[in-house]
Amino acid sequence: MEKPELIVEFEKCWNCGETMTVTRKAWLREVEKGKVSEESKDLPLALERSVVPITDPRKGIGLTVTALVVSWDVCSGCGVRRCVRSETQTGPVQVRQMPNPPGSGGNNQGFPFNRG
Ligand SMILES: [Zn+2]
Repeated sequence: MEKPELIVEFEKCWNCGETMTVTRKAWLREVEKGKVSEESKDLPLALERSVVPITDPRKGIGLTVTALVVSWDVCSGCGVRRCVRSETQTGPVQVRQMPNPPGSGGNNQGFPFNRG
């Protein structure tokens, strides 16, 4: 998979200006306990991810597909759900068995980048 390309990053909460998120707070706690290493701060960490493939139906799908990946988290200051970053990721198209029939819910089923 190619390196993710950062589109935009939101460092602060749009509502209260807080930079910390609940996920980051939980992560810091685990660092204090020594359960995760500080270096893991470079790993993408977010509560939720939305993945939208960017495709052109007139062109068909090639061997790779680019997707917009938006990471969501919850502000630890005021509790609002906020976008923390959005990036594009390009990777090979994967054909695999879906756990549920198409259309049964979820917006990122069957797409390669839905884990985090
Ligand atoms: Zn906030």
